[in-house]
Amino acid sequence: MASHLEEVEYKNGEKHGPWVQYYAGGGKRREGAFDMGKKTGKWVEYHKNGQPAAVNHYQHNQLIGEHVSYYESGHLKQTGQFNELRGKSSDGRKTGTWTFYATDGKTVWRRITYKNGSRTKADEHPLGVCPECGRVVESPAWEKCPKCDSELA
Ligand SMILES: [Zn+2]
Repeated sequence: MASHLEEVEYKNGEKHGPWVQYYAGGGKRREGAFDMGKKTGKWVEYHKNGQPAAVNHYQHNQLIGEHVSYYESGHLKQTGQFNELRGKSSDGRKTGTWTFYATDGKTVWRRITYKNGSRTKADEHPLGVCPECGRVVESPAWEKCPKCDSELA
């Protein structure tokens, strides 16, 4: 019986209206809404501890507008943007600068710049890479490379 893990309403056999899914333990796992079977509006995913994990927006089942994700601590993890729907093939594609934060929620370790879903330039890595193996450094707290165990300056 999975029915208690999901709250949903149907219209003409399609999911329609507010939708909530729960973890087996009872906390919210995801919530959003459907418009005749298609994801619409704001959707939120939650960590098991109840903190939001990701916030997205949908229109006609496609990601649009702002994306934000969070670590279990509540600190910012990633921000970015999707194209709005304008009846073009580029609708719903990643656009602009996507920013990735270290677990402190402040230090940027990666920036990716998109236009219509394609990278427009090389990714930026403000914390640098491991001098031995090239692994991107994701946190100023790293003292050793998790890939090759080299000391990081
Ligand atoms: Zn390394």
